[in-house]
Amino acid sequence: MAGEPQDDCLFCKIVAGQIPATVVRETETTLAFRDINPQAPTHVLVIPRVHYPDIASLGTAEPAVAADVLRESGEVAAEEKLESYRVVFNTGSGAGQTVWHAHAHVLGGRGLEWPPG
Ligand code: C5P
Repeated sequence: MAGEPQDDCLFCKIVAGQIPATVVRETETTLAFRDINPQAPTHVLVIPRVHYPDIASLGTAEPAVAADVLRESGEVAAEEKLESYRVVFNTGSGAGQTVWHAHAHVLGGRGLEWPPG
């Protein structure tokens, strides 16, 4: 059921402490940890503790938690002292989504081209 931990979800396992992650920030509703395959000098993922497959379904079902993810993305950028950065929600396999638990990528520490690839 949406919102409940999923047995086959990698990020639910990180939330449960069953898979290790380098956690940089934690709140009651969110977790922020370093991406295992960083695409920039700073590459942190901010996830809700609850399971929804993407940011749109999280935002519809639990908008306050979606707002927490956004706020925490800004807090990560501030902690990492990023003057410019990008917050990305890959949504759908055609956009590069590979983990079906909503997550924000916070990327910074290098020049970021626009439009993205
Ligand atoms: O947007 P997308 O779904 O592709 O992002 C998933 C991200 O999760 C990838 O950047 C991948 O490197 C990261 N990841 C991770 N730790 C894992 C597995 C995946 O940081 N154990």
